[in-house]
Amino acid sequence: MAVVSFKCPNCDGELIFDPSSQGYKCEYCGSRFSQGQLDASGQTKAPSADGGGVRDRTEAAAGGTESAAAGQEAVAYRCPSCGAEIVTDTTTAASFCYYCHNPVVLSGRLSGEYLPDKIIPFRIAREEAEKAFLEYVGKKKFVPGAFFCKRQIESLTGVYFPYWVYDVEMDGSLHADARHIRIWRSGELEYTETRHYAVERSGKVCLSNLAERALQKANAKLAEGVMPYRSDEAKEFHMGYLSGFLAERRDIGQAGVREKMLGEMRQSAERLLRETVSGYDSVSIHNLHIKAEKENWSYMLFPVWTITYKGRDGKIYYYSMNGQTGKVCGELPVDYVRLTLASFLLAAVVLALGLVGGYFL
Ligand SMILES: [Zn+2]
Ligand SMILES: [Zn+2]
Repeated sequence: MAVVSFKCPNCDGELIFDPSSQGYKCEYCGSRFSQGQLDASGQTKAPSADGGGVRDRTEAAAGGTESAAAGQEAVAYRCPSCGAEIVTDTTTAASFCYYCHNPVVLSGRLSGEYLPDKIIPFRIAREEAEKAFLEYVGKKKFVPGAFFCKRQIESLTGVYFPYWVYDVEMDGSLHADARHIRIWRSGELEYTETRHYAVERSGKVCLSNLAERALQKANAKLAEGVMPYRSDEAKEFHMGYLSGFLAERRDIGQAGVREKMLGEMRQSAERLLRETVSGYDSVSIHNLHIKAEKENWSYMLFPVWTITYKGRDGKIYYYSMNGQTGKVCGELPVDYVRLTLASFLLAAVVLALGLVGGYFL
């Protein structure tokens, strides 16, 4: 299986994707290249393991999860720079060599049905992500020092996680009985007038860009808190974007998420349709039909900056940042020694105030 690393045409050093310029830079000689220049060097061509390059999504989606197929693959590769063995998880698609630290892209992992349709390249560079992390942690109290020490910040990792993105066009129709009620008095009598309206609505509802995680691994969950992404800004997929980052490929097929996503879309469509019936005193809906007409699926990779941290309580804490929008989320550890000390100081201040108060009484 192919292991790719992108070489600088000037010095043969490793090229990595640079979020600030949306191009590529050589870490050794500092040269910069555009996507077009890298393409021209013939390094970014996606492998066509499936022959014609035409993929049949419906067939690929037959089984919900695909870990069985993934499990049959070898998980050891040779680093093209130093020849050392690179051991990875079955879903890893881009990583670093443990020995020479050069970025490697396991292009075979992203071929055929696993070739992403699109990618949102990192927009936020490492320096910016580090700064944001320190600012975020700085604002929180009682976080243990080890959580934001230098070594920890160096472990900030850029990862591309796989998602299914879904657009659907639905036909909806609604039949309802709506009422206007008017009550008035005349002498001893109270009159109630009820007007009935047969309400009919029908129309097309188009919903787009609903994203759902396509990786089962627990660590993918830390990416959920930084949703949403602006998936309309996604680019055509290129292996080059992965260079210098980690990447995971999907292990959940279309069939594994379709029902859930369709259900969510249906609910939104129903709500939209119901909202069109307004201005009546009461409404009873007899019939509401929603039918998915056209569906469009894309398999995309989304960027996340992450740090995980094992607390003294053995629990894994994490911090993550959306690599496109900068949205942050995290579950931070609490340093109980600091917290107790602060409570103790507070108690001491209260006691002192009490004493001063008592003195002047
Ligand atoms: Zn170079
Ligand atoms: Zn190596």
